[in-house]
Amino acid sequence: MERDVVVVGGGLAGLNAARLLVAAGRTVSVLEAGEAVGGRVRTDVVEGFRLDRGFQVLNTSYPAAKAALDFAALDLRPFVKGALVRFAAEDHRIVDPLSGWRQLPDVVGKGLLSWKDRASIVRLSAACGYAPAAGQLAASDGATSEFLSSFGVSESGQTRFLGPFLSGVLLDPALETSSRYTRMVWRSFVRGRVVVPATGMQAIPDQLAGGLPPGCVRVNTTVTSVAAGAVTISGGERIEARSVIVATDATSACRLLGLREEPRWRGVTTFYHVMEETRGDPGRSRGAVDPMLRLDAEHPDLIANTVPISSVSPLYAPRGSALISTSVVGDRRSESGLEERVRHRLAVLYRCAPQGLRLLRAYSIDQAAPAAMPPFATRKPVRVGPRLYVCGDWRDTPSIQGALVSGRRAANAVLEAT
Ligand SMILES: Cc1cc2nc3c(=O)[nH]c(=O)nc-3n(C[C@H](O)[C@H](O)[C@H](O)COP(=O)(O)OP(=O)(O)OC[C@H]3O[C@@H](n4cnc5c(N)ncnc54)[C@H](O)[C@@H]3O)c2cc1C
Repeated sequence: MERDVVVVGGGLAGLNAARLLVAAGRTVSVLEAGEAVGGRVRTDVVEGFRLDRGFQVLNTSYPAAKAALDFAALDLRPFVKGALVRFAAEDHRIVDPLSGWRQLPDVVGKGLLSWKDRASIVRLSAACGYAPAAGQLAASDGATSEFLSSFGVSESGQTRFLGPFLSGVLLDPALETSSRYTRMVWRSFVRGRVVVPATGMQAIPDQLAGGLPPGCVRVNTTVTSVAAGAVTISGGERIEARSVIVATDATSACRLLGLREEPRWRGVTTFYHVMEETRGDPGRSRGAVDPMLRLDAEHPDLIANTVPISSVSPLYAPRGSALISTSVVGDRRSESGLEERVRHRLAVLYRCAPQGLRLLRAYSIDQAAPAAMPPFATRKPVRVGPRLYVCGDWRDTPSIQGALVSGRRAANAVLEAT
């Protein structure tokens, strides 16, 4: 037997499992079907712009990310802790009251939210942000919309701010997602900063893979079948190991392992538009220079969120251009005229002419994240048979945190058993 463990899939879960097993002295091979590691966390470079494959962010409060990653080496760039909300033809800036006295004038969210709604959001933040995580996950579960109401957030508070905000985070405009999961998401926003690595999200899997021994990761290698103690790759080669961890996405894992647990998926479409300074003058619009998420409460069914991502990290765009990342919930690649409608709306939000925005690329992702439906439970079993393990975001929470923690749990299970 040549190696201790074969890990199928080089996403964050598989890479974290491999990292911990190697640190414990085990010999490991990671077999990845794609041409690079990262799975759903990849970044393309197009015309000098860095395009994450679907807008996504890291939260610095994720405990598993703190344990697995060297944040300083990732050169993390923070967003302003809040959102700029378009409502009634005005921009309303809402920021976290704890993010500094300079932000205080904006906390008020003038004209957007009632005092009662603001007080409810503060109570919600205190309850989710400062009570123990175990309590959040043990709380009674139901739809997120009902959970917000139970905290006293009115219908207008939901439609003007929390609905558009959470719909883009959960990829769920109906807010049917588990309130337990939403508690954990809100907790991470209260406790941490939303950031991206300066050179794009791919820096995260690259850092994890960079810590593995040379030759440990084999890309362009699709596993076609899995058994205890061996996997077969396309072409028929059989690779043996004492233990096998299946760290693929949920759909592939269920197929490889014959499981019937596949969750529903949430989809998203992310558009990347370039705003040339000479044409659109991003300097004129506060929204295009602030490293801040923008929400459109006037048309939440169209744009879930948009951000001038090159204002968060200038390395996302060549000098003289701004890169705007805009997400629409769902895989809507077949919807005719969608990009044009998005571009016209962006022109309103960023106060430029629609012709000042050039579409660089769109990513339509039908399987972005597993839906976290109530009743929601984390820590699903990682051992599926003798010497056979499974991990991935669908075993914990549909997030970077969930993927990393499930990889850690699978590695620990292997170490305990061997
Ligand atoms: C657009 C988008 C936005 C997101 N936004 C956020 C966000 O803001 N914050 C957050 O925390 N999370 C976000 N997420 C979720 C997060 O990216 C995922 O939860 C996480 O990356 C999942 O990692 P994973 O390792 O479990 O699975 P994956 O990343 O899917 O990795 C599985 C790997 O297995 C490989 N594989 C599959 N089948 C085989 C096979 N047969 N043989 C070999 N290899 C195989 C795949 O190629 C892939 O590399 C977002 C996801 C997307 C797509």
